[in-house]
Amino acid sequence: MSTALLISGVLQNLGIAAIAALFYDIVLRRSPNDATRHALIAVVFAAGAVGSMSLPVQVAPGLIFDLRNSFVILAMSFGGWLTLGLTTVAAIAFRLWIGGAGAIAGAIGILVCAGAGLAFAMLFKRERISLPTFGLLGAVSGLSLLSMFVLPYETAIALLSNVGPVMLLMNVLGTMLVGGIVERQRQQYERENTLTREASTDALTRLANRRVFDMRGPNIMDSAMRRGEACTLMLIDIDHFKQINDVHGHDVGDKVLKHLAALVRANVRQSDLVARFGGEEIALVLPMHDANRGFNLGERLRKAVEATPYLHEDGAEIRISVSIGVYANNGEDAAEPFSAAFKRADMALYRAKSAGRNRVEIAIAA
Ligand code: GH3
Ligand code: MG
Ligand code: MG
Repeated sequence: MSTALLISGVLQNLGIAAIAALFYDIVLRRSPNDATRHALIAVVFAAGAVGSMSLPVQVAPGLIFDLRNSFVILAMSFGGWLTLGLTTVAAIAFRLWIGGAGAIAGAIGILVCAGAGLAFAMLFKRERISLPTFGLLGAVSGLSLLSMFVLPYETAIALLSNVGPVMLLMNVLGTMLVGGIVERQRQQYERENTLTREASTDALTRLANRRVFDMRGPNIMDSAMRRGEACTLMLIDIDHFKQINDVHGHDVGDKVLKHLAALVRANVRQSDLVARFGGEEIALVLPMHDANRGFNLGERLRKAVEATPYLHEDGAEIRISVSIGVYANNGEDAAEPFSAAFKRADMALYRAKSAGRNRVEIAIAA
């Protein structure tokens, strides 16, 4: 074949790799949930393999090169089982449909790559993959060339000695290309994800921080009010926490805070907003909680804290109690702005403190 054709074929495949990587990036960022993300990554890889096979480089009569092996061998690492399965099946089906002398050999080659990709993903779980590793993986995908031995022996030897080295090189470069770009997108996405998570998480308790509370709290409550649904706001404050710091030290105080945060988290729904609001205060926004349910949850939390002392490494058992201020809007009541609701929860907390602490006080919307 002419060099010009070869180059144009390679360039077209490069385009396919770039488009697949672009879609991979969009899927990572835009998928509303994990299930959708998994499904869409599978589609991107399968489409990448099939798309590349529809723009093949004709290496010899009946023998084509494209990036399918690269997509197949990387499928497990970047997308998991569904991606591996869909990409493999789509690539085999499409290769058989194209037909030609190399069809069966091609299909077997795809299977070999799927197996190699699976083994690789098991060995290098979620590690960052370097460019040389992708090259090595590409060389392994070149093993699929051995599937040419399903052809008559002489034909296979002739083909392999003729085009084997070029095909192997193209497999190596193709896998470095597809893997390199997609891995870059993944790392970029993970870096941004970590930054966003850190910016919204309280470093000590791992609860949402004040910034997130101020941003999401009003939204959650307002949308509950608009739907006429109940919503509860809760403020939890450790009693005489200063004394715990004074007696046991600030480090132990920190651990007590973590202990409380974990207790609270364990007692509410995943979807409830739980934030570290200030030093030793935790604030919650609880949709679908009317006054009854809100007060009961407050009592449950109060009792759980009372009954679960923090056990320090040195054997010390530190008992704490909390005071809780609850503001509840039953949904049918007049909607109050979030700031007013917060003030009322804070006043309820103040009442709980003045009435002797280790108490829950509630303010109900007028
Ligand atoms: P009250 O029952 O009235 O709430 O008494 P209190 O001692 O808990 O309240 P006060 O507001 O007087 O003191 C709060 C203390 O919480 C003071 C501060 O040192 C401590 N604190 C705030 N943030 C942290 C933190 O991150 N770690 C530790 N260890 N202590 C903290
Ligand atoms: Mg306080
Ligand atoms: Mg306190």
